[in-house]
Amino acid sequence: MRPFSSLAPPIFVIQKHQARSLHYDFRLEIEGKLVSWAIPKGPSLSPKNKRLALRVTDHSLSYGEFEGRIRVGEPGAGTVIVWDFGRWESPKDPQKALEEGNLDFVLHGSKLSGTWSLLRFEHKGPKDWLLIKKADDKACDVDILAKLPGSALTGRKLEEVAVDPSAPELDCSSFG
Ligand code: MN
Repeated sequence: MRPFSSLAPPIFVIQKHQARSLHYDFRLEIEGKLVSWAIPKGPSLSPKNKRLALRVTDHSLSYGEFEGRIRVGEPGAGTVIVWDFGRWESPKDPQKALEEGNLDFVLHGSKLSGTWSLLRFEHKGPKDWLLIKKADDKACDVDILAKLPGSALTGRKLEEVAVDPSAPELDCSSFG
C-alpha cells in the first residue's frame, strides 16, 4: 500500500529510530521501493555539516508510515517515529544517479526542503555515503533535530511512542 496517499509519488520519509543507538533512517522512493540510508547524526540544514549516511536494506513502501515499536530480539528492536516526510524530485534518473553514487535532489518535506546531495565515497566500504545540504535559501544553522524532535505524522516523541500501549508492534515478518 502507498504511504502518505495524499502525496503524488515519489515520496521520501525519515524515520527517527531509537535502536541500540539513535539514528535517522532516510528513505527515498525509487522504482517502487524505499532506498534507505541510516544517518547516525541525522540530517543537518547547514552545508558545512556532511553527515555520514550508511546505505542499508531497501524497505517496502508500506513501511514508510510505520510508527511504533520493533520487538526485542528483532533486528532494529526499539522505537520508530516518522520524523519527516513529503515528496522529492531528482533532476536526473534516480536509479542511474544511485548507481553512479551521486544523487542530487530536492525535498518537499515539513521539516526538510530545498536542495540536497547524497554522495558515495570510499571510507570504510561501499555502503558509505554523505548527506549534504546544498547552499540555497533553505540552508541555515538551526539545529532542526533539537528544535523539532517529534513526529511529522502525529506530533509524538519517541519517548511517548515507546510507552504507548496502543502503538503497533512489529516483528521481522513485517519488513518488506
Ligand atoms: Mn533504523
